[in-house]
Amino acid sequence: MTIFYKFTINFFYKIYFSFIIWLTNFLPKKFRNNILNNLLLWNNRIILSRKGKVKNILILLPRCLQYFKCEHNVISSVDNCKLCGKCKIKDIMEIKENYGLKDVKVAPGGKIAKMFVEEINPDYIIAVACEMELILGIKEVFPYKVLAVNNIIVNKPCINTDVEIEKIETFVKKLL
Ligand code: SF4
Repeated sequence: MTIFYKFTINFFYKIYFSFIIWLTNFLPKKFRNNILNNLLLWNNRIILSRKGKVKNILILLPRCLQYFKCEHNVISSVDNCKLCGKCKIKDIMEIKENYGLKDVKVAPGGKIAKMFVEEINPDYIIAVACEMELILGIKEVFPYKVLAVNNIIVNKPCINTDVEIEKIETFVKKLL
């Protein structure tokens, strides 16, 4: 990696991300989401273009993806999921199984998500969350490489959210 490239990447994730986060405070919601989505697309392109050796992928999920009334504690271990199919955690467990992935984590917030990342120290992270959480998270864990997948808000406040499983699987395939 050249010094110029390293400088550009650092600038993008540290300065430009901070600027966009600040800027979104003043923008209408629709416009704000467009900007954040574009930034996430750029991030994903950059991450895939820098693809290197992959030993360990972490799939990081938000707590709101779990069926709200599910009693199983998937935060302490996603293996506690009983695969009932009431939420997409079942489908993500199938991806874990099919591709031999070691680590899928469900985080109730940014701090726990960061803790999981530091504990596991993955080569790549595939993170699911809403746009702003993804941007904040990517900036927070930089230089970890994060591929971002937006979750879909079905009910407000954020419970029983959804995600396009194909997007997660496509990233897994591209990395392996
Ligand atoms: S798929 Fe797993 S996490 Fe989702 S509701 Fe069923 S048991 Fe709970």
